[in-house]
Amino acid sequence: MNNSSLIPEKVPELWFTDADVVFQAGSKLFRVHRSILSARSTIFNDMFSVPHPDSDRIVDADGSYTHIHLPDDAIDVHHFFLAIFDASYFEPPPSDQPTSVVVSILRLAHKYDVVFLKRRAVAHLNVLFPTEWDGLWKLMIENDHTTAADNLSLLELAPAIEIPWVLPAVHFLLATTSINLIFNLEAWNLLEASIQRNCLIKRENCMSELAVSSRWIWSHTTAPSCLSVGTCTNILGLIQKMSGIWKVVSDIPSVFCKKCSKTTQAKCYTSGAQVWDGLPKLIGLGSWEDLNSAKKSFDN
Ligand SMILES: [Zn+2]
Repeated sequence: MNNSSLIPEKVPELWFTDADVVFQAGSKLFRVHRSILSARSTIFNDMFSVPHPDSDRIVDADGSYTHIHLPDDAIDVHHFFLAIFDASYFEPPPSDQPTSVVVSILRLAHKYDVVFLKRRAVAHLNVLFPTEWDGLWKLMIENDHTTAADNLSLLELAPAIEIPWVLPAVHFLLATTSINLIFNLEAWNLLEASIQRNCLIKRENCMSELAVSSRWIWSHTTAPSCLSVGTCTNILGLIQKMSGIWKVVSDIPSVFCKKCSKTTQAKCYTSGAQVWDGLPKLIGLGSWEDLNSAKKSFDN
C-alpha cells in the first residue's frame, strides 16, 4: 500500500521560515504569519487568543511555531492563503479567475470572516453568474460558462453566504447539463440530500419551461441559405430525437453550418429569454427586482 500521500508535505509558496504558525490541512503544511491572519480575520484572531485544542508547540531549525490542524480541504486552504499572503494572486475583476478558485476562496473567506476576500470573490461570481440574460447567453454560446461541479458547489454556498442572485444562472446551467454528468461528479455526492432533492426538482421545472418555450425545435428547418443541407438536416433530426437543443446549445456553431447556426441561435436566444424572465419565481427566489436589489445592497 502506498501511504506517501499521507505524509505531510510543505507547500513551498506558503512556507515562510520566519513565520510562527503551521497549519495542516489534509496532508499539506502551510507556515504563515499569525499577525497577518489576525489582522485579516476575526476568527483567526480569536483562534490565536486562546490555546487551540488541536495545536502543538514545535521547535525546528528556524525557531518555534504552533502546529494547528484545520478541518478544511487542503486545496481550499491553499487558494485561500495564497489570496491572503500574495497580493497579486487573487485580483478583482476584470482579472480572470477560474471559478473553482473563486469558490474555494469564498468558502473559507466566509468561514474565517475575511471580508475583503469575500467581497472580491462575490464580485467574480457576479461576472460568472450574471443576472442579465444577455450576459449568461454570451457565456453559454462562447462556451465560457462555469462547470457543472462549480454550479453544484454554489447550491450550498450561495444560500449560506446570502447571495441568491447567482442562483438563477446556476439553475439554468444545471438544466442544460445531462443528469449522468451531474450524478458522476464528486461535487454532487458531497451535497446534503435535501439540497440534491431541491436541485432535481428545480432542474425539472426549468427543463419543462425550456421545453415549452423551445417547441419551435419540432418544426425547425435548415436555413433557406443553408450551406450543407444534408449535414444540418441530420444534426437537426438527432437533436429533435435525443437531447433537445439546450444540452447542445454551446455546440451549435460547431455542428451546424454558419447560416443554420445563426437562425438556430436566434431562436434559442428568444426562448431562453422567456424562461429567464420568470426564472427567480420558478426556483422559489421571488422576482428579479428582489434579487437585483439584494445584489445592489451587497455592493454598497
Ligand atoms: Zn445549414
